[in-house]
Amino acid sequence: DPVYLNGRFLPLAAAGISPLDRGFLYGDGVYELIPVYSRRPFRLDEHLTRLQATLAGIKLTNPLDLAGWKAVVEQLIVTAPWDDQSIYLQVTRGADNKRDHPFPPPTVPPTVFAFASPLVTTPAEVRATGVAAITVTDQRWARCDLKVISLLANILARQQAVEANCAEALLIRDGYLKEGAASNIFVVKGGVLLAPPKTQLMLPGITYDVVIELAKSGGQPLEIREISENELRGADEVWMTSSTKEILAITTLDGQPVGNGPNAGRPGPLGEQMWQWYQDFKNTVMRKG
Ligand code: PMP
Repeated sequence: DPVYLNGRFLPLAAAGISPLDRGFLYGDGVYELIPVYSRRPFRLDEHLTRLQATLAGIKLTNPLDLAGWKAVVEQLIVTAPWDDQSIYLQVTRGADNKRDHPFPPPTVPPTVFAFASPLVTTPAEVRATGVAAITVTDQRWARCDLKVISLLANILARQQAVEANCAEALLIRDGYLKEGAASNIFVVKGGVLLAPPKTQLMLPGITYDVVIELAKSGGQPLEIREISENELRGADEVWMTSSTKEILAITTLDGQPVGNGPNAGRPGPLGEQMWQWYQDFKNTVMRKG
């Protein structure tokens, strides 16, 4: 199945990028990941809007307009062999003929890459038990709202989680929970859903927005505010959300069961409810087309 590179669809093996590409040299670029269900992209406009915001945030002109991106995404979806996919988009500041930190001259075109892969979903038995996570100090820069490809701090945090046999690392900055290494985090306490606010220290997740919409329309008590590390540790439920994980319960945190009483260490009722709302919402949207 073909990939998209700089205006052309071609086999992956034929897709080449200069070693002087600023994505390779500096991590100077941005990306998006769009889930596709039954060959229909989910929340495509929202993903493309976030891409535009990230490009503006790093002062890189969007190489394609909305219709252009949609055509690329649609072409990848129809030629891929899978019904459920994830579409990855990346734009870098291109390849100059030398290595130098400042932006290259405007004559240097950006590198634009996109490809489809099968959507990797969470098996039902993993959803039933939930997953384990660790907390780590957030060592990222101060513009975590931008979806940039320089992911070193996220990678180190995620690797630390893997080495502790955990699925995710929760990032704590100055005593407050920001998000996961590759997910947003929600907390339930006393029947209230808590969500960290969108600041420059958190990626504005597309799934995060859907969850908040569903909480509001379902009458679920919701507070969008900073969550302290202590509140996280005293939570009844903790969930991670992302385009590929959807809503997934974190049932063990730093080796301790999440929650109290008979439900301790098990996925809680509000998380189950939200997962169901999310599935219903997805199915409704997909039917409408
Ligand atoms: N935060 C970070 C740091 C992420 O990498 C991701 C997933 N790409 C998310 C949150 C979740 O975002 P979304 O719901 O848009 O997938």
